[in-house]
Amino acid sequence: MSVRNVDILILGSGFGGSLLSMILARAGRSVAVVDRARHPRFAIGESSTPLADTTLATLAEQYDLPELLPLTQYGTWKQCCPDITCGLKRGFSYFGHSTERDFDEAAQMLVTASSSNESSDTHWLRSDVDAYMFEQAGRSGVIQFEGAGYSLARDDGHWRVTGVANESSFQISAPFIVDATGSTSALLDHLNIASQTATLKTNSRAIFGHFTNVPTVESMFREGGVDCSRHPFPCDAAAVHHVLKNGWMWQLRFDDDSVSAGFVFDDRIPDTQRSPELNTTEEWDRQIQSFAFLQRQFSSAAVVRPDTGIQRTQRLQRLTTEAAGKSWAALPNTAGFIDPLHSTGIAHTLFGIRRLAAILLSSSDRQKEENHRHYSDQLINELRNVDELVEGCYAALPSFRLWCDWCMLYFAAVTSMEQTAADNDVSFLRANDHEFRNTVRTARSHLQKVVDAGSTSEACNEFEGKLRKLLQPWNHAGLLDDDCGGMYSRTAAPV
Ligand SMILES: Cc1cc2nc3c(=O)[nH]c(=O)nc-3n(C[C@H](O)[C@H](O)[C@H](O)COP(=O)(O)OP(=O)(O)OC[C@H]3O[C@@H](n4cnc5c(N)ncnc54)[C@H](O)[C@@H]3O)c2cc1C
Repeated sequence: MSVRNVDILILGSGFGGSLLSMILARAGRSVAVVDRARHPRFAIGESSTPLADTTLATLAEQYDLPELLPLTQYGTWKQCCPDITCGLKRGFSYFGHSTERDFDEAAQMLVTASSSNESSDTHWLRSDVDAYMFEQAGRSGVIQFEGAGYSLARDDGHWRVTGVANESSFQISAPFIVDATGSTSALLDHLNIASQTATLKTNSRAIFGHFTNVPTVESMFREGGVDCSRHPFPCDAAAVHHVLKNGWMWQLRFDDDSVSAGFVFDDRIPDTQRSPELNTTEEWDRQIQSFAFLQRQFSSAAVVRPDTGIQRTQRLQRLTTEAAGKSWAALPNTAGFIDPLHSTGIAHTLFGIRRLAAILLSSSDRQKEENHRHYSDQLINELRNVDELVEGCYAALPSFRLWCDWCMLYFAAVTSMEQTAADNDVSFLRANDHEFRNTVRTARSHLQKVVDAGSTSEACNEFEGKLRKLLQPWNHAGLLDDDCGGMYSRTAAPV
């Protein structure tokens, strides 16, 4: 049996666990990572953002990880890492649909995130990206166990993992452990940390897969005579959102012409037609068939990933009551998750890694305890903020107009912090900005009144006027600007 003592033990080797392990190893710490799966393996959560890219670039520079820099922009990615599949993401596209009619040309909003293809954001084919990060971590000296069956114990102040990987048994001990297992929350479960999911406002679930033979939205528009000349970027080079009466659909196009597509259902709305016997594929088909545009777009589509076919989740939301203790910490996606909407997961994970790495590498033992408490409180507060930024979109349904209005709160938070994001202690999406948080709550009560009044066009006008005023302190990008008619080009992140 191989027996090792290390400084830090990490459970989970998604890009989060691998990147943290790489940082710590480059800084001279001994690190071991244990994952129950093997790379490459399918993972969901692929749409990156400018905030994620700048945070990854900061980490690469700060910790001397030049091999990660190409992944921070589409141009360098394609040039330096052509074998890692990605997709071009110039921004966020939103299209409103109703079951009765086909696509309504007026129901469009495009928000620019990157001003050129070269400097653009990307979609990450996670099986490739995670395998690359895992490989780079190994090269940095991280001890790695994939496909591991193991048990976890704590004695004499040390964490101990005993298990089997590659038909060999191993034992790793460490004074500190990080839970990077995502929704499995292996360590949080082991520690019996209570959940506070019930207090979250968003209540959604998803069905998703990767498909081929999905024509672009733009080609379908051209065929249907819809004018695309006002689009500030090609509308499919984006996180595409189809806004539906019972939720929304994401479409993320990769350069190998596969498309990550998924429906997110608002589970606060009772679905009277949803039969418990409906299997995953049947439920997927039923939703596709309910919208004329999607029916045509997916008429020849075939599943390419994962091997197991279309996947279905339970409620997506999770939130722990504690994200760190004296000898342990959880990464953001283990501590909680809200929703794919607004693509917050990758950026938040990178924020968490940056903070945790700084704590583990620089604090004294006394400071560490205090810093872990702060890390935990901040993470939970940030997840609650994301919950509020997401939930209002669902509350606005089925009004496409109100949905887009509520998205402006997210865009105000993100565009106003892109300049200060390099600061280690800056809160994610203005979670610590009390004025901003109060504004979100004030806006939410206005929104409810509009929704209760039937979302009439007069009430929507009034709401937009109020929101414009409320968002003024954070609106440096022309958000809710009447003149742009939903085509936002000033929102691009600074290069
Ligand atoms: C439906 C959906 C869509 C999403 N879309 C987006 C998006 O478009 N953009 C975005 O930014 N974010 C998105 N996210 C969030 C994103 O998926 C996460 O932020 C991201 O995966 C976090 O990476 P991670 O490495 O921390 O965790 P994960 O990717 O969850 O990795 C966890 C790792 O732990 C391993 N593991 C699991 N259990 C154990 C165990 N018991 N022991 C050891 N190892 C274990 C797994 O094999 C895996 O390798 C989405 C999430 C969901 C659910």
